[in-house]
Amino acid sequence: MYVIEEGMCQSTPTPAIIAGFGAPMRKLFLSVCLLTIASTLAVAQQYDLVLEGGRVMDPESGLDGVRNVGIREGKIASISVAPLSGRHTIRAAGLVVAPGFIDLHQHGQELASQRVKAFDGVTTALEMEIGAPDVTQFLKSKQGHSIIHYGTTASHVAARSLVFGAPLPDGTILPKSGPATDQPATPEQIERIQQRLRDELDAGALGIGMGIEYTPGATRLEVIDVFRVAAERKVPVYTHMRSAGRIEPGSAIQSTEEVIGAAAITGAALHIVHINSTCLSDSLVCISLIEGARARGLDVTTEAYPYIAGMTAINSAVFNPGWREKLGIDYGNLVMPGTGEHLTKERFEELHNSSKEQWILIFANRQETVDKIIPNPLIMIASDGAEGHPRNAGTYSRVLAQYVREKKTLTLMDALRKMTLMPAQMLERSTPAGHQKGRLQESADADIVVFDPQTITDRSTFDKPMEPSVGVRYLLVGGTPVIDEGKLVPEVFPGRALVGPGRPVK
Ligand SMILES: [Zn+2]
Repeated sequence: MYVIEEGMCQSTPTPAIIAGFGAPMRKLFLSVCLLTIASTLAVAQQYDLVLEGGRVMDPESGLDGVRNVGIREGKIASISVAPLSGRHTIRAAGLVVAPGFIDLHQHGQELASQRVKAFDGVTTALEMEIGAPDVTQFLKSKQGHSIIHYGTTASHVAARSLVFGAPLPDGTILPKSGPATDQPATPEQIERIQQRLRDELDAGALGIGMGIEYTPGATRLEVIDVFRVAAERKVPVYTHMRSAGRIEPGSAIQSTEEVIGAAAITGAALHIVHINSTCLSDSLVCISLIEGARARGLDVTTEAYPYIAGMTAINSAVFNPGWREKLGIDYGNLVMPGTGEHLTKERFEELHNSSKEQWILIFANRQETVDKIIPNPLIMIASDGAEGHPRNAGTYSRVLAQYVREKKTLTLMDALRKMTLMPAQMLERSTPAGHQKGRLQESADADIVVFDPQTITDRSTFDKPMEPSVGVRYLLVGGTPVIDEGKLVPEVFPGRALVGPGRPVK
């Protein structure tokens, strides 16, 4: 007597076994098998979407091979050599299928910037450097209106402005240079700044953003006291350091020491933003300081973008007297985005003294320095993007085109690691949701970029900074295509908030 089970159908019974069945048993065997085949097909059809036959790359597991990826309910449900079928299929042969890029440093949070980020392969773009001035308002304004995922730190510069009685005007993130940026805070004011930051963390901030160069009045003690809040809440401090250049006191090296010291004293994790634009030609020295801190067990990380120019608000404290000596540049190295106007002394004074937040390009770095920074294993890629600078639209494609394909100073897997896994691991310091990001693995979020490694290229320039990159064929955000066959899908807003430990995820 044979007991017929479903499992029998999956291995072909030998003719001898089948011959041993009586006629009724043969019939029963066949019908059970047909049922099994039908139910297997039904299961196979359950994927919402299948990415078929792409080169699947996952920096964490090291997977680099042709696979099929089945997506269900916004998650990666299956990665398989065997064929998968779903309600929709995307043929990805010849294309790379990778985790969507995570940009830790994106100021432009409006839709025009989100569109160009999508064409650059970015599925998550976070305002971590400075932070939105009002976290609740930021999260509310973006809910249901975001193409890609978003999130923010709590802003120290905004908290300080508020406490000094000069809240930031609507739509701005940087304070105009003045008493609120340049004067030291009293102990009582520091306590109020700390309380505001705690409230902002309660509202869902992912960490604390500090633009110390924008608040030169902040004493070393104020900086340490802000790090204390981050340590108490177990979230990182993301910081634009106090100063750039080589002049002592106030060099980039000293600025790096300051924040590493604050991390060591308080125990807060530290992420130093755009080391390229702060440390300039001393960037490799600054990276070696970070290496040293890490070797001593400190949690210190950093990032860079692949351009020789920076951009910031010209009325900010970055341009307080002494900036030309510090940066080793002159008025003519400041260029107006859009028009390409090189500033003169008179034009600079006019713009610097204005209350209007005008962004200005700063040409202060050299290509050979940038070329040495980008391949360094400690460097994550982050754009510092906003309208006016080509980094907003082109950062990720530019790294893939220039450093992976042309200069060959980075492998594709290492480049992807800098754009996916490393920033996801930063996010893990703030939210468990970070574990589901930056990975092309089963049960990870289906935030996926599908691109042509032979053609992916940035097209944005200083003249045309919003020109979208080419080469991204498909982009999925939580399983929803936002780019389909190289075209933006209109009116889809699958972007969701990433929030810190202070606020439960809804
Ligand atoms: Zn900055």
